[in-house]
Amino acid sequence: MQTSFTPAQLADADIREADGILRKCVHCGFCTATCPTYVLLGDELDSPRGRIYLIKHMLETDARAPATPARHLDRCLTCLSCMTTCPSGVNYMRLVDIARERMARGLRRPAMERMLRALLMRLLPRPGVFRLALLGAALARPFKALLPGRLGVMAAMAPKRLAPPSAVDRPQVFPAEGARRKRVALMTGCAQQVLRPSINEATVRLLTRLGCEVVVAEGAGCCGALAHHIGETAAAEAAARANVAAWERVMAAGGLDAIVVNASGCGTTVKDYAFLLRHDPVWAERGARIASLASDVSEVIDDLGLRGVRPMDNRPRARVIAYHAACSLQHGQRVREVPKRLLAEAGFEVREPAESHLCCGSAGVYNILQTDLALRLKERKAQRLAATGADVVATGNIGCWSQLQGASLMPVVHTVELLDWATGGPPPPEVSPFVGTSASVGS
Ligand code: SF4
Ligand code: SF4
Repeated sequence: MQTSFTPAQLADADIREADGILRKCVHCGFCTATCPTYVLLGDELDSPRGRIYLIKHMLETDARAPATPARHLDRCLTCLSCMTTCPSGVNYMRLVDIARERMARGLRRPAMERMLRALLMRLLPRPGVFRLALLGAALARPFKALLPGRLGVMAAMAPKRLAPPSAVDRPQVFPAEGARRKRVALMTGCAQQVLRPSINEATVRLLTRLGCEVVVAEGAGCCGALAHHIGETAAAEAAARANVAAWERVMAAGGLDAIVVNASGCGTTVKDYAFLLRHDPVWAERGARIASLASDVSEVIDDLGLRGVRPMDNRPRARVIAYHAACSLQHGQRVREVPKRLLAEAGFEVREPAESHLCCGSAGVYNILQTDLALRLKERKAQRLAATGADVVATGNIGCWSQLQGASLMPVVHTVELLDWATGGPPPPEVSPFVGTSASVGS
């Protein structure tokens, strides 16, 4: 694609980066077929190629308050399916990051929209506050039809029950079982701690069982993805810097083989910390070092090798699992086969739904900001998952879990909960009623 930035514009590092990305696009349009918003809406401007043209125009003209690009970029899920499809290696993720950051500087959104975004920014990254908000939302659920706009949607989405806070999420060190093979830091995240604490609990059990010393670092918290995706750069950078500093302290205190992330949406962000922190060269370098250690939990387990899988006759009979590939894992991190292979090694029969490349509509807070499109994608995904005839849905991202558990008739669990179960841990909470005759399971 030809671009026409002026030398003055190209003096800006972000514009230079965008220029290089734009020039790789050959307009072939292969990406349109795999873009969920194009599949739903059939509008070129809601396809990756259309958005790339809008971004190019916005950046070339220094548009200050671009209403049309804003509408179409807001509808983009940042699912990155287009990056998987693109034969030219167009880095859409960085292009849309640059565009959203610029858009956030010039665009004045309607008052309600600004309030909603500010509310989400304050609630979700703070587990204590988020827990209180969910308890309040559960009380408001019977009156959801009376609540204005998307507050009603948020009340409807609040889980009916919340598990109590888990002790594993506090800063501490879990010793390895047997000889120590690795020392890793576990990112315990923010919303996941509240929505499904059993994921971090299963992760700690499994990693220690496989010989890892697991450190939950003091001072680590939200990865910054939420703020990043809505263009709140300063807040995203602050969250990233806090995590970098926290993990550097762990590294200094005893070395670190990996930073384990079990929410793939967060993992994609942490793996890109060098870019997120690019505005300060010192922090960019520190971010790059941390990013090089970040791994999805499935990658670390694969590296360690799954050991101690219970013989079939000693544990519940194998379940049929529908594997839902989170976009952030399959497109963002390009981790595609490992989780399925691990589940198969653990004795489960793994089935993939049709259209597994398409997003479920969760995409961070997309399901709150773009409710109609998110709902259509959720229902479409739930139908494809049901058609597999599986017993349980497994996924590697808390956002997908949250989106699908209300839509799917099957229990939805994290992949690591199934791997933990197969190697000696308790069954995931919703799966236990299905446990067969084995009385020994559920330790
Ligand atoms: S990130 Fe996803 S929604 Fe956005 S343009 Fe690419 S494929 Fe479409
Ligand atoms: S597939 Fe790649 S090169 Fe082709 S239009 Fe899409 S982004 Fe451009």
